[in-house]
Amino acid sequence: KWAAACRQRTVLLAGPRSFCAGVERAIEIVERALELRGAPVYVRKQIVHNTRVVSDLEQRGAVFVDELDEVPDGATVVFSAHGVSPAVRTDASGRGLSVIDATCPLVSKVHAEARRFAREGYTVALIGHAGHEEVEGTLGEAPDSTVLVQTAQDVASLDVADPSKLAFLMQTTLAIDEAADVAGALRDKFPQMRAPGSDDICYATTNRQAAVRAVAAEADLVLVAGSANSSNSVRLVERSQRDGTPAHLIDGATDIDLAWLSGVSVVGLTAGASAPPAVVSEIIDALSGLGTVTVTERVTTTESVQFGLPREVR
Ligand code: SF4
Repeated sequence: KWAAACRQRTVLLAGPRSFCAGVERAIEIVERALELRGAPVYVRKQIVHNTRVVSDLEQRGAVFVDELDEVPDGATVVFSAHGVSPAVRTDASGRGLSVIDATCPLVSKVHAEARRFAREGYTVALIGHAGHEEVEGTLGEAPDSTVLVQTAQDVASLDVADPSKLAFLMQTTLAIDEAADVAGALRDKFPQMRAPGSDDICYATTNRQAAVRAVAAEADLVLVAGSANSSNSVRLVERSQRDGTPAHLIDGATDIDLAWLSGVSVVGLTAGASAPPAVVSEIIDALSGLGTVTVTERVTTTESVQFGLPREVR
């Protein structure tokens, strides 16, 4: 395997890749909370869906919990970038917890749209993946008026009391083409359906999918740095595979199976929005250990989005 994997290679780096503004902000919030308030700082759920980020913050004193009942009374708790439902906020304030909210502002935007549509008497079809934390949070904004729609097939069985009062929203990290198919099926069935004011799939998801397509078109293999529970990272793997290029999700260089590299001259390399840039460097180093590597970047767009910090950690 080792001999078959060793050869001269080109690594095509997708740009943009790795951290988005919402992830950078969420990590900085935990870091600053640790600085200002001292350890332990509790974090409800993984702050972002990446094992490296979580273990790094754990080593610095963050304690990740699944639910608020694991947080001692009076402690500081950070809500993750994926957002929470209003029920969780109510629970936290009832418990007297000191909350710092790291919900990405682009997720908060979707929550605000859910509240607005529900207030105006609309049923909301939320296009997303069941069980994802972001979806659970958004569903919680208007649980009686929101239905989850995962696939175009789900649309066929969707029954809405007043079809003239239907709106749709989306999870921020969906595959653009698949989400458009579901929205298209909804629109075919409910032509009066209202759309969100602006796209819910966020700029970072959109840009990383376009960038991975550009490298997948030239590569024999695509490696995506990211964790298995990271929705946007998994979508990058699927995006490459749909474009006909084999692709694998890896948390780090040690996950590379040498068999994947046999006969591969051009490796496309990207990272999901929650995966640290250091993992990309580590993967390049590992590939360099198997022969000469030339690294070239394919930049499809540049990003300048930044979000401010909440006042508790400013
Ligand atoms: Fe925010 Fe998009 Fe990043 Fe999620 S992927 S944290 S919605 S910018």
